Amino acid sequence: MSNHALENAAKALRDGRCVMAFTGAGISVESGIPPFRGPGGVWSRYDPDKFEKNYFKCHPEEVWPLLKEIFFDMLGRAKPNPAHRALADLEAVGRLHGIVTQNIDGLHQEAGSRVVHEYHGSTRRMQCMKCRKFFDSRDISLETLPPPCPVCGGLLKPDFVFFGEGIPSDVHHASVDLARQADVCLVIGTGGTVQPAGRIPYVVKNHGGVIIEINLYDTDYSYRTSDYYLQGKAGQMTPELVQAVLG
Ligand SMILES: [Zn+2]
Repeated sequence: MSNHALENAAKALRDGRCVMAFTGAGISVESGIPPFRGPGGVWSRYDPDKFEKNYFKCHPEEVWPLLKEIFFDMLGRAKPNPAHRALADLEAVGRLHGIVTQNIDGLHQEAGSRVVHEYHGSTRRMQCMKCRKFFDSRDISLETLPPPCPVCGGLLKPDFVFFGEGIPSDVHHASVDLARQADVCLVIGTGGTVQPAGRIPYVVKNHGGVIIEINLYDTDYSYRTSDYYLQGKAGQMTPELVQAVLG
């Protein structure tokens, strides 16, 4: 990477009227969360069909132990890394106005970020399929599976988007609204291959915004969209960039 790209990207972040970040699995890898897609990913070891909404509703006793293993035991141990913390720092000084994340791990909030749109939901909440009430996952014991709703005894579902399920319209609209206002979008740890989430940076680009990309490997964004491409690990490049903004 050239220092030139870093300096120009830092200048864009300093000058931006409304700056957003769009993050994906690559920002959480250094927190110990394996990517879901690709070789060695979670979906190479577990059958994604089991995480389809109707299958879950019909076979909760089969699916819940898998959910616990993947999403609560594994993600529950993860801690924010320097990339998450750098974004929280940027928000704290008024240089970042919101994050749209595809991750369901809650690590942005744990790092201190306040405006976070969780496009695919979160493991931090559960919803009862019967009475529709929401619960903080920390208040739900997973000793008995499936865990019953504390209010009505109905089936609880983690509040993230399963296969065969649409994006909740409130988070979709909030994300698109932010992208429409943003004149700078910092893309970190995602190639935008999952739709419709992957289109968010194009909303910024299409009205003349600047795209800054931090990824370990080239993506469609690198070839077609990014104005500045800082190639490297999120946990290293993001703090470097934020340091250049604040410095
Ligand atoms: Zn209930």
